[in-house]
Parts: sequence; structure tokens; C-alpha cells
Amino acid sequence: MYEGPVQDLIDELGRLPGVGPKSAQRIAFHLLGVDPADLSRLQDALQRVKDGVLFCDVCGNVSAEQTCRICKDPRRDVTKVCVVEEPKDVAAIERTREFKGRYHVLGGALDPLSGVGPDQLRIRELLTRIGTASAEGEISELIIATDPNTEGEATATYLVRMLRDFPGLAVTRLASGLPMGGDLEFADELTLGRAFSGRRAV
Ligand SMILES: [Zn+2]
Repeated sequence: MYEGPVQDLIDELGRLPGVGPKSAQRIAFHLLGVDPADLSRLQDALQRVKDGVLFCDVCGNVSAEQTCRICKDPRRDVTKVCVVEEPKDVAAIERTREFKGRYHVLGGALDPLSGVGPDQLRIRELLTRIGTASAEGEISELIIATDPNTEGEATATYLVRMLRDFPGLAVTRLASGLPMGGDLEFADELTLGRAFSGRRAV
């Protein structure tokens, strides 16, 4: 539709999730008009996201250092670990302020049709983590907070089966009330917060 670099930019932006052709066009023309300093900050951030991103060696969340801020925080309850699919789910749960424990990020959900099996997720790391008592204490409750959709349910079922081998470990799931077929991150804070406080044993 447009010539040269502007169309290239629109095409690239249009490949991002949630950005339709109209938004891509709007963002592209916005960027054309911004201050060079703002543009170079954006360029810088894009560059660093690939070069500089680390994943926490404990929980698997995105982190600025080898161990993330939550895993390093002594005020967080080490006995409770909430299992989520993606880093964005950690952010969603943190926004509810309902949970003061720690996290474990699986890196996705079981989806055999797309080639995602247990080995592609950080399940082994989770089992190791549960089996290893840290200096700060043992994990006594595992809260499964996978997405309320088919893949999330399959993942939760699989985890529950694997976790039967750990006597004394309470395994809970978020209460119902989350919109089915959705993404955890799209649940509003109140609904997600309630689902959290109303979690039940499985
Ligand atoms: Zn961490």
C-alpha cells in the first residue's frame, strides 16, 4: 500500500500478536513522527530484549539477573509455589496482590499436536525443585494456575498425576469462575484474585 520503508515497518508490526493491519499502520505513522531520542530508546529496548534477557534459574521467569527479584525476596513465602504457563501469568497474578509465595514458569502448556510434550516444559525442574529442600524451607503447597483452556487443563491433569509421588505436598487449583477457553492474563484482577483465595485441593 505504501512505498519502501514505511510499508516494511507496517508489515513487521502487523506480524506482532494482537496488532491488526490498521493498528500496524497507526503505530508506523506514529513512529515516523516521534522524537529521534524516543525512537532510539525503542530501538535499544528491542535490541536488548534478545541480547540481554535472562530466565531465572529457579523459577524460569524473565529476569534481569540470574535469579529473579521474586525468588530473591526473603519476604516471599517459600513454602507456596504457584505453577503458571508463561511469564505474563506471573505478572497477572502479581497484579491481584493475592499471592505472597513464589512461582514456577513452565514455559507453555502440553499440546501434543504442536509437538509440546512434558520434556518441552520445565516440569523436570519443578519436580527437582519440590524434591530439594532449600535452606529457606520446603515446598508444602503447589498451586496449579494453568490457563482455563484445553491445553491448560491437560497440563494440570498431568501435573497432578506426577505430584502424587510427593507425600505431604498439598496440590491445589484455582477456584472455578475464570472464563473457560481464555488466557489467565485476560482475567480481571478481581476474578483472578477470588479464584486464588478460593483455591481447592485436588
Ligand atoms: Zn525466579
